[in-house]
Amino acid sequence: MSSILETKNVAFSYENGEDVLKEVSSGIPEGKKTVILGPNGSGKSTLMLHYNGVLKPKKGSVSFRREPLRYDRKGLTSLRQNVCLMFQNPDDQIFAATVEEDVAFGPLNLGLSRDEIEMRVYEALETVDLIKYRERPTQQLSFGQRKRVALAGALAMNPEVLMMDEPTAGLDAQMVHEMMELSEELNHKGKTIVICTHDVEMAYEWADDVILMYEGGVLYNGDIDGLLEREELLHRSRLKYPTIYKLNRQMHIRTGEHELPRPQSLPEC
Ligand code: ADP
Repeated sequence: MSSILETKNVAFSYENGEDVLKEVSSGIPEGKKTVILGPNGSGKSTLMLHYNGVLKPKKGSVSFRREPLRYDRKGLTSLRQNVCLMFQNPDDQIFAATVEEDVAFGPLNLGLSRDEIEMRVYEALETVDLIKYRERPTQQLSFGQRKRVALAGALAMNPEVLMMDEPTAGLDAQMVHEMMELSEELNHKGKTIVICTHDVEMAYEWADDVILMYEGGVLYNGDIDGLLEREELLHRSRLKYPTIYKLNRQMHIRTGEHELPRPQSLPEC
């Protein structure tokens, strides 16, 4: 499977000079669901911001469909049509006064026709189930609704790759379920989906592929089952090995079954 987005030996530090990404080489497979997994502060968001061209590496390169990113206005505008990011905090992303104005912001900047913009806004709001809130001031929405507005804004760009930084942070259990279902649906419609999380069970339940980060480096990049076979990597990254998978493995050893069944749903929190 070819990578739609890649980093090669990417190094990055913020103003304070500390190395936040250290020689990060990684790939996002096209059409799959990839999780960037790691404890807080391991560099997940920083890596995501590199894939999206928001940050530029100090060393190394980032490419989309094997073409190195161009960081001029034209290059970034073109990238944003293909790779969109939903920030962890919707308030970093929502600027317009009403829901539909906010969702229309990206398509307007692409210079699309009025009809095309209206259609995209309608479809995006329908996807996130916010049609009836289209004229609502963004200030009057709940946190979960603002998160969905931010997602609609990304979807209205009709990107090939949708990235979501901690998409379930701050949501209740029902909303977490809805957000993950929605991401599955979008993936079935052909979008490559990437999320950042520190939640191994969510990764196990949802992802096809994983990039495991620890202290700015990549400990593992490959399919999720391969990672779960390597318990020591999760320990090294200071993440908890999923209890369900452990139980499955023990059952497997006892019964001698060849397949390790995946859990069908997450345990109640
Ligand atoms: P994660 O997403 O895994 O929690 P981040 O990429 O947000 O990790 O952060 C990695 C490191 O970079 C952390 O030490 C964090 O404090 C630092 N960092 C993140 N954003 C900034 C910033 N804007 N300025 C300075 N340091 C930052």
